[in-house]
Amino acid sequence: MVSKKKDIRALTKEQLREFFKSRGEEAFRGSQVYEWLWQKSAHSFDDMTNISKETRKKLEEQFVINHIKVDQLQKSSDGTIKNAVRLHDGLVVESVLIPSKERTTACVSSQVGCSLDCKFCATARLKRMRNLNPDEIYDQVVAINNESELYFNRPLSNIVFMGMGEPLMNYNNVLKAIEKITSPEGLGMSPKRITVSTSGVPKMIRKLADDEVKFKLAVSLHSAIEEVRTSIMPFNATFNLKELRDSLIYWYSKTKSRITYEYVVWEGINDRDKDIKALLAFCRFAPSKVNLIEYNPIDDSSFKQASNEAIDKYVEALEKNRIIVTVRRSRGKDIDAACGQLANKSL
Ligand code: SAH
Repeated sequence: MVSKKKDIRALTKEQLREFFKSRGEEAFRGSQVYEWLWQKSAHSFDDMTNISKETRKKLEEQFVINHIKVDQLQKSSDGTIKNAVRLHDGLVVESVLIPSKERTTACVSSQVGCSLDCKFCATARLKRMRNLNPDEIYDQVVAINNESELYFNRPLSNIVFMGMGEPLMNYNNVLKAIEKITSPEGLGMSPKRITVSTSGVPKMIRKLADDEVKFKLAVSLHSAIEEVRTSIMPFNATFNLKELRDSLIYWYSKTKSRITYEYVVWEGINDRDKDIKALLAFCRFAPSKVNLIEYNPIDDSSFKQASNEAIDKYVEALEKNRIIVTVRRSRGKDIDAACGQLANKSL
């Protein structure tokens, strides 16, 4: 059941200090509670051992800590771990821990479901149910950080917003969560180790640039030809490539941060020479690199990953034009934890 009490983590540190002051108590108690809530990730008021029992009881009467609950842990044969994350209202999102030799990456969700309609993505079939709150995004990172310590003896090194949802459609909460993740009062991670991946919402990319964010930007491009992109990502009819291009030029002019384009090559969709040519032209608008990602098949979809030869052609052309290109293998495919496969299948 959803509690009527107020979510204490919706309060700023200042508001918590004010709360204590208004009750005739020392403001620094507010700072202590804030530290428990964020830096120490307390799950209950009883964890707050330097706060008097009486005060804890008062807090309990007025507030809740809507902590996430990791319901299920699935481990892939390649080490990838998928969490089913239950939210306070019973809804579920997924997040993934991806270990490699040099790093451990958390792939986190920003929405329950997604309002966009990418034809190749399993999450798109869930529709958007609601935005995640900043604390729900933050908690996913803390849970994965703990798992990273537990299973791999090292802290999390990177975070990608490539789980469920479109982060730029939940702009304020995603930015608030990142603020906590990067703040010394939270996890103290460097923003350079965080990548926000967007399907490309031009207005919001401009806003990121205006807000002078310090994290990295990835754009799920998949095609640089207007009609092709619209056929696989129908929202492109509204946020078209021309506007996307202009917003990216603006992003780079303000941030000087190189953009990563995520790109899957599909047979019969974008495996022609003219698709490659269009991508090369798009890459010239702003300094960028291309991540060719593997297609992860989803149920009853007609999409088919292009042949290795077709992918090699892309790599060759990009390299010839001095554009950095990486070919990414999927991780966690056997447990449906790879890009675009997150759809609460196991529930
Ligand atoms: N909404 C954001 C972030 C979530 S999707 C975005 O679109 O970027 C994360 C990445 O997975 C995107 O690049 C998306 O295009 C890609 N993706 C979606 N479905 C996929 C699939 N079935 N196989 C491979 N990649 C997929």
